[in-house]
Amino acid sequence: MEYVTLRNQLKMPILGLGVFQIPDKKECQESVYQAIKNGYRLIDTAASYMNEDAVGNAVRQAIEDGICTREELFITSKLWVQDMRTYEDARQGIENSLKKSGLDYFDLYLLHQAMGDYFAAWRAMEDAYKEGKLKAIGVSNFYPNILTNFCEIVEIKPMVNQVELHPYYTQELALQTMKDYDVVPEAWAPLGGGRYHPFENEMLKEIACKYKKTVGQVLLRWNMQRGVVVIPKSTHVERIIENINVFDFTLNDEEMKKIASLDMGYSGSRTKHFEPDFVRMCVNRKIHD
Ligand code: NDP
Repeated sequence: MEYVTLRNQLKMPILGLGVFQIPDKKECQESVYQAIKNGYRLIDTAASYMNEDAVGNAVRQAIEDGICTREELFITSKLWVQDMRTYEDARQGIENSLKKSGLDYFDLYLLHQAMGDYFAAWRAMEDAYKEGKLKAIGVSNFYPNILTNFCEIVEIKPMVNQVELHPYYTQELALQTMKDYDVVPEAWAPLGGGRYHPFENEMLKEIACKYKKTVGQVLLRWNMQRGVVVIPKSTHVERIIENINVFDFTLNDEEMKKIASLDMGYSGSRTKHFEPDFVRMCVNRKIHD
């Protein structure tokens, strides 16, 4: 495993497993367990994925089986918008995540969206960070203008910003803004999230063939070589293994550029952060009473 270093000197694995859209607890637990068994050390969940408990179970199972120690793992979760209305809501939301997962601390905890009163929620995150309940704190889906304003205002700047990043949405300005504030970029949907048809793309297939790799591995490698942490999701053990097998080849500059030329300049994802309907849906989505 390779690591990036966060501003507070914490080491974060550059590749992990994402567990979005694995509502089945057993399936989630098994995927996380298989991932850890096959060398993953970073797991990315969220309160809104409703599977923090399954992640916690897999972590305990892996530790009990002697596969790794808690200290070797890097577990991320995220605060949902419902818990971002007030400072007190956020404090409670963080406690709920800890309780659900059964973990004493998270290695990284993110504000899931730049919605609600995200400044009040951030102050709760800063306090939990100072108390050692969160080893690092960050944000997600903070676009360049929002991230800039946020970093100029807050006491502790976010250490990570998790946003959509893949060759079809390269987000150069987002990466530059993160660099300016020493925020580590983390890619959601690094394989395209089931959209964009990368696996049928002839250029990607040709590059994959050259290195005797798969298109999926090329996509992950491309982001990692830009300094981006990747968290591909899979519930299939053969793909979980395939996705971590990306540390034995290097794309050259020309290939990096060719792949980046797929950029559409906009997101084709279902999450439309600039659309009022999407924001309203998130702000009103309840994940607990
Ligand atoms: P990904 O880009 O990881 O794509 C996942 C899809 O690709 C699944 O359908 C999976 O299917 C398939 N897949 C996985 N490996 C391979 C492979 N080697 N070859 C072909 N297909 C493959 O998208 P996600 O949207 O899941 O993003 C990854 C993670 O990012 C999430 O799980 C979550 O943790 C995080 N995320 C965060 C968001 C945020 O707002 N902060 C938003 C969205 C995601 P299968 O499982 O059947 O193998």
